[in-house]
Amino acid sequence: MNDREIISRDPATGKEIGRAPLSSPEEVRQAVARARQAQPAWAKLSFRERGRVVLEARRLMLGARDEVALLVSQETGKPIAEALSMELVPTLDSMHYFVRASESLLRPQKIDIGQYGLMGRSSRLVFEPLGVIGIISPWNFPLATPADEVVMALMAGNAVVLKPSELTPLIALKIGEIFTRAGLPAGLLEIMTGDGSTGAALIDARVDKIMFTGSVATGKRVAEAAAKYLTPVVLELGGKDPMIVLEDANIENAARGAVWGAFANAGQACASVERCYVQETIASKFVDLVVRETRALKQGLGTDQAIDVGSMTNERQRKIVEEHVSDAVQRGATVLTGGRRGANPEGFFYEPTVLTDVDHGMTIMRDETFGPVLPVMTFKTDDQAVTLANDSAFGLTASVWTRNIARGRRIAERIAAGTVMVNEVVYTHGIAQTPWGGVKDSGYGRTHGRLGLLELVTTKHIHINRISFLPDLWWFRYDPSATKLFGGLATHFTTGSLTKTARLLPQMMRRLFRSRP
Ligand code: NAD
Repeated sequence: MNDREIISRDPATGKEIGRAPLSSPEEVRQAVARARQAQPAWAKLSFRERGRVVLEARRLMLGARDEVALLVSQETGKPIAEALSMELVPTLDSMHYFVRASESLLRPQKIDIGQYGLMGRSSRLVFEPLGVIGIISPWNFPLATPADEVVMALMAGNAVVLKPSELTPLIALKIGEIFTRAGLPAGLLEIMTGDGSTGAALIDARVDKIMFTGSVATGKRVAEAAAKYLTPVVLELGGKDPMIVLEDANIENAARGAVWGAFANAGQACASVERCYVQETIASKFVDLVVRETRALKQGLGTDQAIDVGSMTNERQRKIVEEHVSDAVQRGATVLTGGRRGANPEGFFYEPTVLTDVDHGMTIMRDETFGPVLPVMTFKTDDQAVTLANDSAFGLTASVWTRNIARGRRIAERIAAGTVMVNEVVYTHGIAQTPWGGVKDSGYGRTHGRLGLLELVTTKHIHINRISFLPDLWWFRYDPSATKLFGGLATHFTTGSLTKTARLLPQMMRRLFRSRP
């Protein structure tokens, strides 16, 4: 990176793959102003008209599928297979879903207001675009994470200013280029490549909402900066996601799930399996299978179609992985496989690593590792498994593995997380229809699904009184009969029972039709 440019490099080879501008605060302000100007006309279009542009962008992205997957792989180090399965597939699916579903998801809604309804009142919710949405995104899923949010924000009638990670600016520029070619009017999707200072400038440019995905430390800074302007924020932060394997699980499949959940994207997914708890009675068989599966993985250049695990995306993250593993080993953990840098000296490779003899005193079981490490602990009872899973500052996702679905659901209900899966790991971020987000240090707010779409609109309540010729019972003037009636309302009306409220009808009528002095 120099003063005005970001140099994007392939983390597996160190080779430059392109350059992008380092946007200044002034450029960010101008982009937000352009977005603000373009948004009202876009909001006036019908869902169908907005959807036409998104579908055209989808068509172009699909046409450029291999080129986009290659760029994702080169900029992050991940295998082409994952660029396709974990980024392009969910993005294209979400484009299709939100084009089709946004109108019905945002259809005005009548609210049942109980006895007020019998008094000629009605209430509706209408959903209106917020205006300009600022999206600040990380490097680990540089296509799917921002593109899904761009699509939802646009379909809801907003304009977007996207600030991607400084490690993956070229993919964000590609998203912008595709939407421009699809005919999205100028100003509706501004891509502001840059670093943390560009992200901070986006908050200071006073957008109407910030959708932030990234680390806990930056998330707190973002929330603090946004609070100055009362700008609402959605925070999609880190995870330390637990996987619980019960003795009645399909052990072979659970082992394969654990290996994929821990090592896909070189472990750099917010929902990666970062802690595995296996019931003591099956632990040795499960661990053997996990180690066998892990040793079979091929690591190498993401652009080689026959590899399973690529390079990590940056050296800073690899160092964190090394620190966590070394802390664990010093405190007594056993490395069953991996535990060191990959053989290729060029890239940021770290071997898929399986640890046992770990405990919650170790950093590896407490802090987000965000790398290819799977620490495995044992437990005896379901209660113990739940206690271990919940002993964390994070709460993004969790998984429970069992053939007994009722038992799995019972445990799922007791785990503090935004998403708990039974016999599944990681992947629900890829389901456009389901909400994504966490509890505790994993953040607040949601993306995806109806709940995610609702983050991108303001919900207005419209209340109508059709009996416009009558005053309300509780208006002025007050006198002893009013006090008596209000006392009666407190006793009867608030029970929600029409029969009980009916006792007050004569008093109500007298008050409504009384002659005024
Ligand atoms: P990061 O916090 O370092 O950066 C995220 C983004 O914030 C980048 O675009 C960065 O330039 C920007 N930024 C940095 N400082 C800023 C500031 N002061 N103001 C505004 N923006 C600023 O995170 P990262 O290393 O890029 O990503 C990895 C993290 O993201 C992990 O913790 C991971 O768990 C998390 N993540 C969470 C989810 C989720 O959905 N919950 C998804 C993917 C990644």
